[in-house]
Amino acid sequence: MRTKLVAGNWKMNKTFQEAEDLTAKITEAVEKLNTANVEVILCPPSPYLEMVLDLTDETHVAVGAQNINEHEFGAYTGEISAPMLSSMEVEYCIVGHSERRKFFAESDEVLALKVNSALRSAIAPIFCCGELLPEREAGNHFKVVKSQIEKALYHLEEKAFRNVVIAYEPVWAIGTGVTATPAQAQEMHAFIRQLITSKYGEMVAQDTLILYGGSCNAANAFELFSQADVDGGLIGGASLKAEEFVEIVSSAINCS
Ligand code: PEP
Repeated sequence: MRTKLVAGNWKMNKTFQEAEDLTAKITEAVEKLNTANVEVILCPPSPYLEMVLDLTDETHVAVGAQNINEHEFGAYTGEISAPMLSSMEVEYCIVGHSERRKFFAESDEVLALKVNSALRSAIAPIFCCGELLPEREAGNHFKVVKSQIEKALYHLEEKAFRNVVIAYEPVWAIGTGVTATPAQAQEMHAFIRQLITSKYGEMVAQDTLILYGGSCNAANAFELFSQADVDGGLIGGASLKAEEFVEIVSSAINCS
């Protein structure tokens, strides 16, 4: 049976002290929960990774980065690479968040290279896909998600693909307060799992974690995570409040 996964994407938020406080509060509360079937990940801004790694050391909270460069080392001022992150023992990295696609023009082709780079350094990519509102309104949402997954992931061998986590994040739901209905989320997650089945077979598809992201909060997490193919969430705004994030983790525990 698949475990659940709840990852907090802090984006470009919090001062160092606030981030320390948030990490401490979340970690302390998560340690009191039964997280045997739920993986909890914090993805802070990169200057805070070391601090979050220290505070979560030997706890049930893992750490992820929000982005990596596709190159390993070199003259790329301001960038951070997968070997750097793995040398700090960062285990996960978000790849292809819609904000990276939109504001930093990251194409599916570049994202494929980022996925490769992460996997070469034993970092599990949390690969984000999802359609824009006009794409959904035009009935193209399945086509868009299929193309994003094919272009960024289908070159992977089965062994490598097994380390990928997928996050379905409809762009119209990110940071908007508009959440996909549980039925809409389930429909797309089942579609994604079917795509994986056709490419890598039933066993791989059944093992792949597919997260939902987009205005997921303490009030709607349980229903979303109770859907058969929703394996947890990538949480933005609601991960910035310790109590709410921990409630979301509890929802994942209660429906796992
Ligand atoms: C996200 O940024 O991945 C996200 C899902 O944001 P929010 O939860 O704020 O919609």
